[in-house]
Order: sequence, then C-alpha cells, then structure tokens
Amino acid sequence: MRAFVCSTIVVVAFSVVFASAQTEPLSKTYRVTRADDVEFQKMESFKVFDNLYYVGPGYVSVWLLTTPQGSILFDTAQEPYVDWVIGNIRKVGVDPKTIKYIILSHGHLDHVGGAAKIQEVSGARVLAVAEDWKMIEDLASRPGQRGAAAPRMPKRDMVVKEGDSLNFGGQALKFHQTPGHTPGVLTTEGIAVYDGGKPYKAILWGGAGYRGGLAEAEQSVTSANKVAQIKGVQVNLQIHSWAGDDGYPGGGVLERGVMLKSRKPGDPHPFVDPDTFARWVKRSQDEAAKAVEEEKKKAGK
Ligand SMILES: [Zn+2]
Repeated sequence: MRAFVCSTIVVVAFSVVFASAQTEPLSKTYRVTRADDVEFQKMESFKVFDNLYYVGPGYVSVWLLTTPQGSILFDTAQEPYVDWVIGNIRKVGVDPKTIKYIILSHGHLDHVGGAAKIQEVSGARVLAVAEDWKMIEDLASRPGQRGAAAPRMPKRDMVVKEGDSLNFGGQALKFHQTPGHTPGVLTTEGIAVYDGGKPYKAILWGGAGYRGGLAEAEQSVTSANKVAQIKGVQVNLQIHSWAGDDGYPGGGVLERGVMLKSRKPGDPHPFVDPDTFARWVKRSQDEAAKAVEEEKKKAGK
C-alpha cells in the first residue's frame, strides 16, 4: 500500500514538471515573454460578467464595468494601445462617452498612460490617491524614453483616500489606500458583478508587493493585512493577467478567460474563486513579512 501511494505521488510530480516544461501559461507569455510584441498584445476583448468586460492588452488589465447610469473604467493601459482600448470599448457595445469614472490603481505608466486620452474622449472624472497623483504629475513633467516627449497625463482630478466611497449606478464602491508597490495604491472593494443575474463581490487590489526599501516593505505588510481584513471577496480583478504567484493553477486572467469561452450551462464561473484569492492574500502577507526581515538585514538592523 505504501509503495502504491509513493509511486502515485512520483507520477503526479513527474507530470507536473513535464507539463510546466512543455507549456508556458498564456498569461505569462503576455505579461513576460512577449510583453513588447505590440500586435500580439492586441488580443480579443471578452465579456467576463453580465456587467464587466476585459478590454486591455494581454499584459495589463483594463476592466470596464457597466451600470444603468454609465460605465466605470479601472486602469487605462498605455501607448501604443490607448486608441485600440477605446476601440475595444466600442466593440463590446459601450459608447466611451458613457464612461463616468476612471479609477487608477496606482501611478505606474502601464496603468495610467491612457487616462488623459480616455478622459478627453469620455469626459469622465479620474480618481487616484494623492501620492499617486504626485507620481502622475511627475510622469507628465519628465521626458519619455529615448528623448521622446513626456507622456500626456490627466490633471489632478478626484483625490480619494482610505475609507472613501463611490455610490454610482447601483455600485457601492469602497476605497482603501494600500501602499507599498507605490506610495499610494488604490484598492477598490464592493464591486458588484453579475453572472446571469446572480451577484458576486469583486475586488481590485491596486498593486501588491513592494519594489525595495525597508519602509516600503513595512507598508506592504500593513497593506496586505488590510486586504486580508476585507471579507467575502469572491472575484479577484487582477491588475495584470499574470501575477506569478497568484495561486491560480498555471496562470491568471487569460486562463480563466479561455475556460469561460468553453463554459457549459451550469458550470461554475471560472472567475468566481474565493479560495485562490484568500490563498494569494495569505501568501502576500507572508512574503511581505519576509521582505521586512530581509530589508532589515540589508540595513544592518
Ligand atoms: Zn506597478
């Protein structure tokens, strides 16, 4: 009996290694391996819930949430994709002029680079936390890569902070500041998505982890703990298709998108996955705590 169990484990372990050597998750190909392949990145948009669409390129998410009063856009991608993103919004049947709010997860260019153009097309209000508005303003004043002109950025518009909320079109969004990845980071909870009329609670964690520094690592601990306190999350709207260790078997957003395409009536919705989200939050807490220890060692403390 013992030998049987052991050999089963060996076979399972072998097939996992074999599979991972053979195929790279689609989300990783988009986010990492072919991140600079512009034409490849222009993947087909897809409907995720009755009121939610993925309209971004393959490496960075742009989520379009529709309501009876207009739409809310989460993040905006960056050039050279912005006109194409606007085209995607039209393609899924939404007039960009109906976008009333653009919610920016954090002040990195891949998320905020399209905000100015999409704001002009839509007339939407743009939301970010103060610290990341500062980053956005800095981006606008610095020349781009290889001497290119500074990217066009939106003017500081709505400044949100911890505990603020936005009630609009039947949505009761609640905002948290979860710094670490950047000095701001806007996390949105309470996003109501519907599958055949059945409601689910979604979250958009505006950026996990940190990018070096003891203070930033300590912030990322506090932020991960804050996200862990948010109960009842059923759907995780990742800001990138692939997050490396989001806990989803072999990938992230795009793998779920593929499953959604071939979903049969009565099958569970592949994006409704509270357990994987809870595991990801737990792992983020553990990693943040570890990072603090490492940064302390580095600093000789
Ligand atoms: Zn970032």
